[in-house]
Amino acid sequence: MTRARVLVLGGNFAGLTAALAVQHELDGDVDVHVVSASDHFLFTPSLIWLPFGKRRAEDITFPLAPTFAAHDIEFTHAAATRIDLDGRKVETTAGVVDYDYLVIATGSRPDLTTVAGIGEDGPAHHISTLDAATRAGVGWRALVKNPGPVVIGAAQGASCFGASYEYLFNVAHQLKRAGLDDRVTLTYVSPEPFLGHFGIGGLPHGETLLRTFMKRAHIEHVVDTGISEIGDSRISLTNGRRLEYRYAMVMPPFLGQQVIADVPEIADDTGCVRVRETYQTKTRDEVYAVGVAAAVDVPWTSAVPVGIPKTGFPSEQQARAAARNIAAQVRGDAPEAHTAFGEMPAVCIMDAGNNGVLILADRMLPPRKHGVMVPGPQSHGLRVAFEKYSLWKAQHGYVNLP
Ligand SMILES: Cc1cc2nc3c(=O)[nH]c(=O)nc-3n(C[C@H](O)[C@H](O)[C@H](O)COP(=O)(O)OP(=O)(O)OC[C@H]3O[C@@H](n4cnc5c(N)ncnc54)[C@H](O)[C@@H]3O)c2cc1C
Repeated sequence: MTRARVLVLGGNFAGLTAALAVQHELDGDVDVHVVSASDHFLFTPSLIWLPFGKRRAEDITFPLAPTFAAHDIEFTHAAATRIDLDGRKVETTAGVVDYDYLVIATGSRPDLTTVAGIGEDGPAHHISTLDAATRAGVGWRALVKNPGPVVIGAAQGASCFGASYEYLFNVAHQLKRAGLDDRVTLTYVSPEPFLGHFGIGGLPHGETLLRTFMKRAHIEHVVDTGISEIGDSRISLTNGRRLEYRYAMVMPPFLGQQVIADVPEIADDTGCVRVRETYQTKTRDEVYAVGVAAAVDVPWTSAVPVGIPKTGFPSEQQARAAARNIAAQVRGDAPEAHTAFGEMPAVCIMDAGNNGVLILADRMLPPRKHGVMVPGPQSHGLRVAFEKYSLWKAQHGYVNLP
């Protein structure tokens, strides 16, 4: 009997975990092939440190090919360009690849059209990709030489609020270190209905804690607002306010990849894949989507659109569930592993330069029984340890570790 062919698109948190986990689940009795547009793994959470020179690209990436080779997984550095669901094949920039099971783990791309003026060359920066974070570093160094007002925040529809808060507090920390905190005003702008909403409905005492942090660092905040325009030196908000700036970092909303958006049978209107709790697509039993590529319904409406953060921990959980389900299907069993996104525990360490906050909750989305935020310098140490551990775990393929 021929072995099942599992094709994984994407090789970062979700794709790497899914590929290695399905290989382990079936004790290698399966042909796993990963096609990824990047030939490196990128530990995205550390992009918050790159602009300040606290990390270099080589500190937070590793080449994928040796990791997959060590686990007998075929790897192709190429982008998927067309998915043929009926033909069970994917066209890529390196040729056509057939599959019996497909795992879509292509993550997201920044939407730089909702608010014009966020881009790799500015005028406002973002840090969603390695290139963008590198450019944000060029801008940062120019600001230190020629200080002026700083605006950090998130655009309407954004979801990665953890990164915008982390960047804000890292900027405050770096300004203090450079002796510029008295000369530079720092403002946080966000569509969140209140400080500390984080796109997950907030946590007990979160708003008070963030207010205290901001007051201590002399940061002004404007929430519950969108951005209507970013000019060369001024940001206009939808609430009518205008903010002068010399340096700005604004997290944009995220969209699914174009190759997914081109398949309306599985894509929602943001280009993410509609999935069941087993992470199979709604219409195809043999097609899965995990990580940021998988759609999550926002369970509330807010005056200004706020997205849901899809972080690394749920991405890996989803990938493991998909791997177990594919292994069950290969064995002729029903796919039974499921974990709804909103029911997964929320585990996050928010860095603030030399301080931070540990965030723990029993569920990503309300209603929750427990949720705590523990501030303190130990969280900065934990965040650094989390980076080292995650890179070691991924590079060595220990994807079954927590
Ligand atoms: C600045 C920032 C800070 C963050 N901080 C945290 C944090 O502190 N904690 C946390 O848990 N999460 C954090 N996140 C979120 C975390 O990065 C995501 O949850 C995680 O990257 C999701 O992994 P993924 O594999 O689904 O997608 P991605 O990491 O985006 O990977 C997608 C992969 O697909 C590939 N790909 C794209 N298009 C194609 C194509 N057409 N064909 C083939 N391959 C393709 C890409 O090259 C990439 O390898 C942060 C994100 C950002 C941007």
